[in-house]
Amino acid sequence: MSTSAEQAPPQTDRAATPYPFEAPTSQALFERARGVTPGGVNSPVRAFGAVGGTPRFMTSARGPYLYDADGREYVDLVCSWGPMILGHARPEVVEAVTAAASQGFSFGTPTEREVELAEEIIGRVAPVEQVRLVSSGTEAVMSAVRLARGATGRALVVKFAGHYHGHVDALLAAAGSGLATFALPDTPGVTGATTADTVVVPWNDPEALEAVFAEHGDRVAALVTEAAAGNMGVVPPRPGFTALMRRLTREHGALLVSDEVMTGFRVSVAGWYGLEGPQGAEPGADDGDVHASAPDLMTFGKVMGGGLPAAAFGGRADVMAQLAPAGPVYQAGTLSGNPLATAAGLTTLRLCTPEVYAHLDATAERLSSAASAALADAGVPHTVSAAGNMFTVFFGPDPVRDYAGARSQDLGAYAAFFQSMLASGVHLPPSAFEAWFLSASHDEEAVGRVLDALPAAAQAAARAQTSTAGQTGT
Ligand SMILES: *Cc1c(COP(=O)(O)O)cnc(C)c1O
Repeated sequence: MSTSAEQAPPQTDRAATPYPFEAPTSQALFERARGVTPGGVNSPVRAFGAVGGTPRFMTSARGPYLYDADGREYVDLVCSWGPMILGHARPEVVEAVTAAASQGFSFGTPTEREVELAEEIIGRVAPVEQVRLVSSGTEAVMSAVRLARGATGRALVVKFAGHYHGHVDALLAAAGSGLATFALPDTPGVTGATTADTVVVPWNDPEALEAVFAEHGDRVAALVTEAAAGNMGVVPPRPGFTALMRRLTREHGALLVSDEVMTGFRVSVAGWYGLEGPQGAEPGADDGDVHASAPDLMTFGKVMGGGLPAAAFGGRADVMAQLAPAGPVYQAGTLSGNPLATAAGLTTLRLCTPEVYAHLDATAERLSSAASAALADAGVPHTVSAAGNMFTVFFGPDPVRDYAGARSQDLGAYAAFFQSMLASGVHLPPSAFEAWFLSASHDEEAVGRVLDALPAAAQAAARAQTSTAGQTGT
């Protein structure tokens, strides 16, 4: 991997400091952090373990830019892993949160803004009739699974390999050997008993899914799926796969839980459901009844909190009615519906107009094709995989349709690409298994800087290519 600074772009007056790979203040902070926090970070991928080097400690952010502790400016292509869809510190959102803060931080009572946020979500996503607000995507999925089990009186949960639903114990499960076997814990600390009621199926594999339902269907409480996978890199469902999930769950009396924590309110006004909705259904399945082709429950987070901790799960009113205090399934939260978080989320959603999504779509198309062209020029095998305006550049020759495909990438080539981009002032996800995220604030200037940085990064990736690309299993 290149470690020179020659790839640094010409200095502009906005970039106060040039871009060497060294980041002395971040290095010192990382040292201190490792003394007091495991691995120096509060969420693992932030540690740069997959790409090497020092994670940048950021001090502020505005629009499409992040500013690190050494005073450098980066074009942000992570956007806090999705939430910052309007860009950082958007004045209207800052104002709404500031106004909310001046009225008090948390009341432990109901508030009008919770009703407004629920109405905004329901107004956007047709199948959602009621929602419950929580504080993280993890909590949303955990609660949806509990509700599905409570509502059906069944135990089993089916999930897909490579799908991430937050750190919910029962879903931190890897496929056992064989097609339709019960899952094994993916991490120490999760017991076999906890994952014993979880079945893991390969993504986009209709036969495997049919086999699981044929064998276990009458014991399945829920099929939980990322609406379009984003946490193994972006891998959308193949045509017809969403419809198959809906048909099998319905036939066997199981609930379909669509996890839109990442895609929700990001890839369209109504998330992945808004993009795929009717098309995802089998012909004639709809019959004017939205539930015939829609998920029973959906989970949201990221964008709907606008950068503060807010998330939600919701869906069919009869299922949601099982939730306490309306029904018997317990669920609660001290900070659920927090006034500051609902202010940030509501203001963000209201500013996410069709024009914003059109800008995100066009910008994603421009950036992904430019990245692809630069890699092609440098002779680096790659494929671009997209779900609306979320996309991943996979560093391997074959189209990716499942987790095994995503894992066959040349991770060394990605690491070199990442480091070169970082040195040029572009902050990409520090892992090859992530989506690239854009915002409404990524304008010509910001996009231009990314485009300028691509050729050198593609050359760096070319130099770093490993001969085992395409076979590196892990
Ligand atoms: C991010 C994410 C989660 C977890 O959300 P947290 O707020 O990090 O707990 C769950 N599901 C999906 C699909 C996600 O992308």
